Amino acid sequence: MANYNFDLFIIGAGSGGVRAARVAARLGAKVAIAESQYLGGTCVNVGCIPKKFLHYAAHFSEDFEDAVNFGWTAEQPRFDWITLVKNKDKEIERLNQTYQRLLEQVNVTLINGWAKVDNPHQVTINNHSYSTERILIATGGMPFTPNIPGKEHITDSNEMFFLETLPENIIIVGGGYISVEFAGILNGLGSHATLIYRGDSLLHHFDQELRQALEAEMIKRGIILRSNAEVKAIEKQGQGLNALLHNGEILQADKIMYAIGRRPNTANLGLAELGVRLNPTGGIIVDQFYQSTLPSIYAIGDVIQKISLTPVATAEAMVLSHHLYEGSNTPLDYTNIPTCVFSQPNLATVGLTETQARDKIGDIKVYRTRFRPLKHTISGRDEQTLMKLIVDKTTDKVVGAHMLGPEAGEIIQGIAIAIRAGATKALFDSTIGIHPTAAEEFVTMRNVT
Ligand code: NDP
Repeated sequence: MANYNFDLFIIGAGSGGVRAARVAARLGAKVAIAESQYLGGTCVNVGCIPKKFLHYAAHFSEDFEDAVNFGWTAEQPRFDWITLVKNKDKEIERLNQTYQRLLEQVNVTLINGWAKVDNPHQVTINNHSYSTERILIATGGMPFTPNIPGKEHITDSNEMFFLETLPENIIIVGGGYISVEFAGILNGLGSHATLIYRGDSLLHHFDQELRQALEAEMIKRGIILRSNAEVKAIEKQGQGLNALLHNGEILQADKIMYAIGRRPNTANLGLAELGVRLNPTGGIIVDQFYQSTLPSIYAIGDVIQKISLTPVATAEAMVLSHHLYEGSNTPLDYTNIPTCVFSQPNLATVGLTETQARDKIGDIKVYRTRFRPLKHTISGRDEQTLMKLIVDKTTDKVVGAHMLGPEAGEIIQGIAIAIRAGATKALFDSTIGIHPTAAEEFVTMRNVT
C-alpha cells in the first residue's frame, strides 16, 4: 500500500469539514484540513450564528413595545448597529478559536491557504504538496449574484454582516430563507425593507397556508412585499441606488441586497480537470457515501447541493467518517429533516406540506389551529400563530407538522423526533400538553379542517 502523508486531506474547515476531520481523527485516521478563509465556514462566520445574533437584536424592538401593557415604562430605546457588529465579531472570533482548539485536540493538521487538487492523491497549498489516500471536498458555497447592469452595486448576504452603517432603506431581492430572514432583521432594527421576489409567494418549498400567513405578518410589521417582480438593472443615484424593475418601475434604496441562492465553491480546485463530475451549477456529484466520480475524492455539505443546512453537512460528515474508518454502511436518511426560517415570527416545518401529502398520499386529514399567542392578549400585538398537522388517513401517522409563531424552531425540533419515530395522531392526542404553551396545541388539535 502506498505511503501517504495523510489518510484524509480535507479542503474546507466549515461545519462539514471540521466534523469530518474530528470524527475521522478519533477513529484513527491521520487527517489534514486546509482552509483559505475562516474556521467554521459559512455557518459560524456569515450564516446561521451571526444571523441568529442579528435576529435576537431585531426582536428587541418588539419586546420593548410589548412590555408597555405589562406595566413597563422606559426611555425610548435606541439601537446602535456598531455595538451589535462589534459584539457579534467578538463572539465569532471566540468560536473560530474554539474550532482551532477542537482540531488540535485530535491532532488534525490545520493548513492555512488555498488548496488545489493536483492528482487523485495529491494536494498543493502554498507551494507545498501533500500526498493523501483520500481527499474530502467540503468547500461550501457562496452567494450567487446575477449578471445585470449595475451588479457591482449589489450587496450580498456575506457583506451584510459587516456593514458600517445600518441602511435606512433597503431592497432585498429573493424569496428564500436568507432574504426573508434579513427582511425581518433589518425591519426590526429600524430600516425600511422592501422584499422583491419573482414568484407569487415567498419560500415556495413551505406549506402554502403558512407562507401566506408569514407574508401577512411581515406586512403588518411594515415590510413591503413585491411579488412577481424582478430587477433588471441597478443604477447609482446620488448617495443611493435605483432598482429598475421589469415593469418599468424604479425603486430607490441605500442598499440593494441579493439572496437568490448560493453556488458551490468548486472553481479553481482542479476538480473538473481531473474528471470529477460536476452538475451544471458546479455541485459535485456523489453517491450515497459521498464518493465522487473519482474514487479517492469525496464531497459533503453545500458543495454537493443536496440540502444546504449545517446539521445536514455535519450528519453527512459523520456518515462518511464512520463509513471510511469504521466500515459502517448506513447511509444518511434525508427524510423528515426539520428546518426553520428565522423570520419574525419563526416559520418551522418537518415532513410533508399539505400539497405534497395530497400528491404523495392522497387520503389525508389536515388539522389546523390559528390563535393569538397568550402574551399578545395583553401586549396588544396583532400577531397570529398558525399550526398544522398533516395525517395519513390510512395509517393515522403524522406526516407533516408546520408552525408559524414564536420559537417555532424550538417546538418543531421536538415534533420532528415524534414524526421520525412514526407517531400516529392518536399518540399525539394521548400526549398530555404543557399548559399554558403554544406547543400544547400540537397535542390538542381535534377538528379535521
Ligand atoms: P433559497 O434557495 O432559499 O431561495 C432563493 C430565492 O431566490 C428563491 O425565492 C428563488 O425564487 C429566488 N431566485 C433564484 N434565482 C433567481 C433569479 N435569478 N432572480 C430572482 N430570484 C431568483 O436561497 P437563499 O439564498 O435564501 O439561501 C440559500 C440556502 O441557504 C437555502 O436554500 C438554505 O438551504 C440555506 N439557509 C438556511 C437557513 C436556515 O436554515 N434558517 C438560513 C439561510 C440560508 P424561486 O422560488 O422562484 O426559485
